[in-house]
Amino acid sequence: MNILLTGGAGYIGSHTAVALASAGHAVVLYDNFVNSSRSVLAALQTITGAQPVCIEADVRDTARLAEVLGSHSIDAVIHFAGLKAVGESIEKPVEYYSTNVQGTISLLQAMQATGLHSLVFSSSATVYGDPQYLPIDEAHPTSATNPYGRSKLHIEEILADCARSDASWRIACLRYFNPVGAHASGLIGENPNGMPNNLMPFVARVAAGRLPRLRVFGNDYSTPDGTGVRDYIHVMDLAEGHLAALDFLTHASGWHAINLGTGQGHSVLDMVRSFEAASGKTVPFDFAPRRPGDIAACYARVDKASDLLHWQARRDLATMCQSTWHHIQSSST
Ligand code: NAD
Ligand code: UDP
Repeated sequence: MNILLTGGAGYIGSHTAVALASAGHAVVLYDNFVNSSRSVLAALQTITGAQPVCIEADVRDTARLAEVLGSHSIDAVIHFAGLKAVGESIEKPVEYYSTNVQGTISLLQAMQATGLHSLVFSSSATVYGDPQYLPIDEAHPTSATNPYGRSKLHIEEILADCARSDASWRIACLRYFNPVGAHASGLIGENPNGMPNNLMPFVARVAAGRLPRLRVFGNDYSTPDGTGVRDYIHVMDLAEGHLAALDFLTHASGWHAINLGTGQGHSVLDMVRSFEAASGKTVPFDFAPRRPGDIAACYARVDKASDLLHWQARRDLATMCQSTWHHIQSSST
């Protein structure tokens, strides 16, 4: 198939581009590089052996999108493009709603104009808010406490309305848990601008001596060791989940929300210990107060992905840490 990846130069998009290319699909990246680097293109060429096709444009440019969908005979779209930092979304809500919500509407208009109806959307476990029970299944009530989360919820609802209005739509909203890790080559990975907000890139930079110490936000949660628990999933497993979703949409119509996680929860201290083992480095840390807005624990029920997509995550925590370590050693950020 010919697949358009909006936001395809980003962290998850670039890994998905590799997975799609190795499965024989033709990939077109569409990105404005607001949160990614053009150097990803050379890395993708080295990994896949072919020069990636990349359109540098904004997802809110409906006319350009429609032109690209037509000229590349696109069969399905995976919509990664968006802004994703929770704290920044509170400071810049208009930018977040414009890029995330308006960007998705622009994509839907372009798809409608070209008669294309197969769409995989990057949603997030953030749509579950503070979990009422664990593991979280897709029937768990949804809520949001910040503009980023609300943008994901709004988009999911818009997509569900589209599917209700027209039976041609085939839409999978993939609710990612905590993507970490990197491609085994070390050539692509997560490269946050400035100070990382997320745990894994922060731990990696402490292990590499680029940041002095980790602050562990809270050690008084009701979790086995008192620190926050999350469902960390290797980005290549996540990438392969998109392939499975595309296959699913070839025979399923309507709107589907599906968790992509491992079903396993790991604490902050589990992550520190695994990273130390993978890197052979010490990760010095201090306990600090809880981070505002954080939840104690969050992990997925993964039966729906297994039943519908015939997909499950297979890479373990050691592989997640080893690949992150390999990537950080080969990058300068
Ligand atoms: P990323 O920032 O690395 O990738 C997003 C890409 O979209 C970037 O390359 C960026 O340049 C591009 N982009 C942003 N605005 C654009 C616009 N207006 N037009 C064209 N391109 C634009 O982020 P990621 O981690 O790869 O996340 C991809 C998607 O998955 C996002 O929608 C994000 O909200 C979602 N998600 C990510 C996580 C995570 O922890 N990484 C978790 C859940 C959901
Ligand atoms: N965390 C931490 N120190 C950091 C960054 C994160 O202790 O510098 C903790 C955070 O409180 C949470 C877990 O690590 O319990 C995962 O945080 P992350 O921001 O990666 O993911 P999210 O909270 O968005 O699921």
